[in-house]
Amino acid sequence: MVADLRSDTLTRPTPGMRAAVLEAEVGDDVYGEDPTVVELEEQVARLLGHEAALFMPTGSMANQVGLRLHAGPGQEVISDHLAHVLRAELGAAAAYSGITTRSWVAERGLLDVETALRVMVPDGGAYQVSTACVVVENTHNFGGGTVQPLPELQRLRQRTQEAGVGVHLDGARLWNAHVATGVALADYGACADTVSVCLSKGLGAPVGSVLAASAEQIGQARILRKRMGGGMRQVGMLAAAGRYALEHQLDRLAEDHRRAAEVAAAVGEQLPEVVDPATVETNILVLDVGAAGWSAADFVTRVGDRGVHGYPTDARHARFVWHLDVDDAMTGHTADVLVAVLGERRTGAGS
Ligand SMILES: *Cc1c(COP(=O)(O)O)cnc(C)c1O
Repeated sequence: MVADLRSDTLTRPTPGMRAAVLEAEVGDDVYGEDPTVVELEEQVARLLGHEAALFMPTGSMANQVGLRLHAGPGQEVISDHLAHVLRAELGAAAAYSGITTRSWVAERGLLDVETALRVMVPDGGAYQVSTACVVVENTHNFGGGTVQPLPELQRLRQRTQEAGVGVHLDGARLWNAHVATGVALADYGACADTVSVCLSKGLGAPVGSVLAASAEQIGQARILRKRMGGGMRQVGMLAAAGRYALEHQLDRLAEDHRRAAEVAAAVGEQLPEVVDPATVETNILVLDVGAAGWSAADFVTRVGDRGVHGYPTDARHARFVWHLDVDDAMTGHTADVLVAVLGERRTGAGS
């Protein structure tokens, strides 16, 4: 049996989604004439409580266009040290927009507003770089699917607003936060000026993200997207997959959360130093395999040989992500393999 838990981007379109793609009404979206894209954009804007939205080929482009709306060359964007925008978008803010970045260390990627405010420099004048935007990731990918508490997000929103600094929410997995907590998407949306969401993660669409913001910002984002090479034509084909995912594959994210929690409980019971099950809130399980004497790379290879595929996020942490294509049987197999392989080094202590 094989459980491919490297990422929730690995999902394949379901038969219902493929049918929706075939039937999609389309037009030229660079002319704003693709009705399915327009429907998707309106739907996501409404869900997030923003005026407008824009369909994007990738989450990275949605984030980078979002950052560019806040900051220009010589300004800075700040976030935690594990943030996707800082760590996994290949320096795009610097390479494309001349934006510099700074970060603070955040355990599990959890937002601590006071720390963010200490790093923030609202008006650096002629001496320090001015902070144009704070980025929050919810749920937090490399943090282990961490859900950011709504009161902290609201406090960040208020304090940054007072300081004249923007907030961008990297909500690639905001759907998971919503399903895990029951907090309305619009309540999360209200905590940021600009919000990106992915359709291609746990929701199961083959491609696509959406950026939501004010109507004026989205007008500007349309220009920035085209400039970055993201102007797309008859992409109602893809927007239809996103529409289908929102209608049929949103609520089922709860199953991914349950399965990740089951494996966390199984591992945590045997090896509490490797994972605290209470921290596994959504579909991502990050194991501190270093605490059991493994390097992340060796561990991932070893469990991979036994049909469980994960991803080493750094030297001592391995990540496993649940999604649409991982069922209960694969989940049980995963728990067995992880517990057995983690135990190998511990029982052979010193070897
Ligand atoms: C996946 C992801 C993105 C976007 O990734 P793309 O591969 O560019 O679509 C952005 N932020 C987070 C937190 C992600 O997990």
